[in-house]
Amino acid sequence: MPTPSSDDAFAEVKAKVDLVKVVQEHVRLTKRNKDFWGLCPFHQEDSPSFKVNPQMQSWYCFGCERSGDVFTFVELIEKTDKRGALQLLAERAGVELKKLSPEQKERSDSRRRMLAMLKLAAQFYEYVLWSTPAGEPGRRLLASRLVKEETARKFQIGYAPAGRGFAEYLRAKKRSLADAQEAGLLRRDGTDFFAERVVIPIRDERGQPLAFTARTVRQDERKYINSPETPAYVKGRVIFGLDLARDEIARRGHGVLMEGQFDVITAHGAGIQNAVASSGTALTDDQVRLLKRFTDELLLVFDADRAGRQAAQKAVLLAAGHQMRTRVATVEGAKDPDEFLRAAGEDAAKQWEELAAKAPSGFEFGMEEAAAGLNLSNANHVELAARKLREWIAQFPAALQEEYRERAKRWMGVSGHLLAAEPDERRNSGRPNPQKAGKNGLEARLAGKKMTVGRYLLQLLAVRPVAFDRVRTKITPDELDEEDRGIYVRMLETYERGGVFGLEKELAGYPAEEQDLIRRAWAAPPPNVDEEVAVELAERIRLDHMRGRHSGIIRELSEAERGKDSERVARLEAEARELARAIADMERRG
Ligand SMILES: [Zn+2]
Repeated sequence: MPTPSSDDAFAEVKAKVDLVKVVQEHVRLTKRNKDFWGLCPFHQEDSPSFKVNPQMQSWYCFGCERSGDVFTFVELIEKTDKRGALQLLAERAGVELKKLSPEQKERSDSRRRMLAMLKLAAQFYEYVLWSTPAGEPGRRLLASRLVKEETARKFQIGYAPAGRGFAEYLRAKKRSLADAQEAGLLRRDGTDFFAERVVIPIRDERGQPLAFTARTVRQDERKYINSPETPAYVKGRVIFGLDLARDEIARRGHGVLMEGQFDVITAHGAGIQNAVASSGTALTDDQVRLLKRFTDELLLVFDADRAGRQAAQKAVLLAAGHQMRTRVATVEGAKDPDEFLRAAGEDAAKQWEELAAKAPSGFEFGMEEAAAGLNLSNANHVELAARKLREWIAQFPAALQEEYRERAKRWMGVSGHLLAAEPDERRNSGRPNPQKAGKNGLEARLAGKKMTVGRYLLQLLAVRPVAFDRVRTKITPDELDEEDRGIYVRMLETYERGGVFGLEKELAGYPAEEQDLIRRAWAAPPPNVDEEVAVELAERIRLDHMRGRHSGIIRELSEAERGKDSERVARLEAEARELARAIADMERRG
């Protein structure tokens, strides 16, 4: 319980801080009548139910029903206790807390000393880099990465010399080495933690250094080391570059989120001043919440490798969870944005604009990833891509899923049932989908078996070659999957030469695995070998092939649109229309 004397402190601090301003550092507030409204930082929500009353200096959430004053707010948001909240707010309001318990005072002082020490270190390293011979290796490294002095100074990049440079500096200034050790700047023996490294301060959104990340200038060492976590620095809660980018983010309406510090430094050097980085970790919930205070939209530009693309997908989902829009740009011919921008040289700003202009939405990016490496004119691949798309869509907030399924359908050119939710349940139960059962219950028979339509047709034709008479008028061999095409053509030629008994006579001349397939069909014929079923199968194959071609054209079309190739767009649109009409015709008849 607070003592009477500390009650005075609470009152004094409360009188000096404005709840609205404190909340605004964490939540974007909109004024409505006399109150301010925003998205509650203490529970997940889509529409604002968090209200701040400036007259009463109180807040209330209609969603989670939490409420309180400025102290309870800081307690919850900073994950501290009432005393901790008092200290933080007192610091901010410039109120001297004389009546703190000794250990609380110690904690508050220690944090303040640590922040001051980090600031001092940043100044020292920057001085060494630019104004001493010892900084030469650092200057060389920056030059090799095309970082100009002006840019480096904005980020307060520095160089930690070999040996005990910082410790000696502190001794000369009669400062405590223990504080520097606690801040992760010195090892126990007094040597520099970052010796012989280019050091980059990681600053909070107000520009206060909280930690350093440091890149070696030597070949034989770990490339990057970072400050340890301290009371001043929690890794997943800082966004690198936000202090420099926040105004430009507000001006342009979106932030550019990258992975590495050097990506951001090079980006700012090239004039992309709304660039920030998640800095040394995968993007966290806290970081997204921090960004959300400044913008609703992120352009993600991650590394071009597989890990980078996966990180981008995760970031898309995380941002969607906080109702933020994303787009994903892919740097081509470079491993990361840093390399891309450096390679572009003087042309960087222009090439960047082009890259950003053709960045698909985060959702579309995930769709392209799901279909990557798959041939969507192949029925099996379509099914696989559809499964991946279902998984992708299922990870978004429920409110978005319906619309995303619609978009996926159009993008892929597949029918809705492939993307419907919970198809696995349906498949596992073996229960056919009544609308799609087809006139011979074909779907029901295909369900639950690992048999493709093409395989089914081949088995049927092996057992009942006369069905070729009708099938060959329905499809051409190139509409079949590649793996079915060879055997189909061989069987068709056999039938044309030798009629219904031809296959038995010529089978010995077939490749082994084809013989195998045919013999197995003879031994265990498929469930229904009617000619009607054969026709239905053939039509399905043709339809799948057309859908595959259609989605291929649609994808080509969005590429052509992005490239502003109007001639190609017109031609593809005409093709797509014609195909769509043919598909619709077939679907009606089927
Ligand atoms: Zn709430």
